[in-house]
Amino acid sequence: MLRGAMIVSELRDHGVRGVCPLCGSDRTGDPLRLDVFTNLRCADCGFRYVREVLPDDRLEAFYRAGYGNERMRLGQIVNAGVNLGLFRDLLGTAARGRLIDVGTGYGFFPDAARRTLGLEVAGVELSVAEATYARDRLGLAIAPSLDAVGPGERFDIVTAFEVIEHVPEPAAFAAALAAMVRPGGYLLLATDNFESPAARALGAGFPKWIPHQHVSCFAPASLRRLIAGLDGFEVVGERSYTPWELQARRLAIALSGGRIGRFEYRYGPALERDDSGTYRLPRLRRHANRLWARLTARRGLGGAMMYALARRAA
Ligand SMILES: [Zn+2]
Repeated sequence: MLRGAMIVSELRDHGVRGVCPLCGSDRTGDPLRLDVFTNLRCADCGFRYVREVLPDDRLEAFYRAGYGNERMRLGQIVNAGVNLGLFRDLLGTAARGRLIDVGTGYGFFPDAARRTLGLEVAGVELSVAEATYARDRLGLAIAPSLDAVGPGERFDIVTAFEVIEHVPEPAAFAAALAAMVRPGGYLLLATDNFESPAARALGAGFPKWIPHQHVSCFAPASLRRLIAGLDGFEVVGERSYTPWELQARRLAIALSGGRIGRFEYRYGPALERDDSGTYRLPRLRRHANRLWARLTARRGLGGAMMYALARRAA
């Protein structure tokens, strides 16, 4: 496992970036300090990105060897239920045929899509531990990288839930996903909204500021801009919701006048939580989070979690 201390020293060795990966501008403003990291906001297009990012090969090694634990496995079970609900809501009767889920983790989403909707499913996952679980325990076909998916392979639906924020070059990543969609097929991207009311209220305490992993931080305008840059695609559906945990934190901040519910980002403790933290109340969350998302999801991208469905011209 690539340890945090190694990451910091490598970041120092490899320098930093200061050019917007979405529009190419080098004009930045409104920097957010996150301990040893700085999150920059592009002054031209508003996209947020972390200045310090590992080079591609080291980042890939981090995800391949060091990603996956019991806390994440339980969290992914919960998220797969939420994601399936929003997937059904957005796709409706178009939820059929062949699906590939990129960054599938332990594979719970494609497994659920296969069982409940009868889809023919596959996945892509860098993490060896997670991919092995998805293959051996769930019987899924998992490719170890995007490059390992056959060059001519086309799918009716390509999904990537909470993946694109991990990718330093999101436009190239989105284009690679788009290339796997058959004409008339669909691309579904889900990611955090780093300019949502919840993110603004929580400031540096917004739990999705995870600067060594979440290096590309979208908001509604930047997510729409990304999709608009994909040849032949147009957005045909948008949903968003704010998890109840974040709403509760917002409420605590508002009621206490900011005295409770806010905290600063600390890299060391965050890494420790990555390794040894526990996922609380998984059974309750499995039902409560799915129900909450179903009851509170709205059209548009205003909430803390954004889902954008794009269709490729037939
Ligand atoms: Zn920009």
